[in-house]
Amino acid sequence: MSVRVGIGYDLHRLETGRKLIVGGIELPFDKGPVGHSDGDVLAHALCDALFGAAGLGDIGTHFPDTEPKWKGANSLVFLEHAKKLLDEKRFTIEHVDAVVILERPKLGPHFPKMRKALGKALSVAAEKIHLKAKTNEGVDAVGRGEAIACHVAATLSSY
Ligand SMILES: [Zn+2]
Repeated sequence: MSVRVGIGYDLHRLETGRKLIVGGIELPFDKGPVGHSDGDVLAHALCDALFGAAGLGDIGTHFPDTEPKWKGANSLVFLEHAKKLLDEKRFTIEHVDAVVILERPKLGPHFPKMRKALGKALSVAAEKIHLKAKTNEGVDAVGRGEAIACHVAATLSSY
């Protein structure tokens, strides 16, 4: 068996009047990410971690933001597509570990729903998806509530 680890990172600016979607779940808040798709940092960073581990490039290669069909797209679709590519290359998702960095609102209470949504998109048990939340201690753009960021490590195996 071989094991491969990939990392992913994403950041989106937050603006008033946009929907805040994280891990496929819409959270009640007055600001949301600016982006070509729904701006889901967790889904995007996870996608990049999976592509990285599998040696499949990055999210921009597969879903260019110049493509009209991805405008406003539900980012879970990106994960479903990534999973298909992993299957083709015979990779199994062993574990996902993520840190979402956001000043407000609190993410923890929404983690069970996010894990379920991400697990469904990737056809893996929610137990394989571990989520953590951090604030940026009031420092920098994320700390001022102007942005949301996410880091993800994904572990794949192949036989
Ligand atoms: Zn993104």
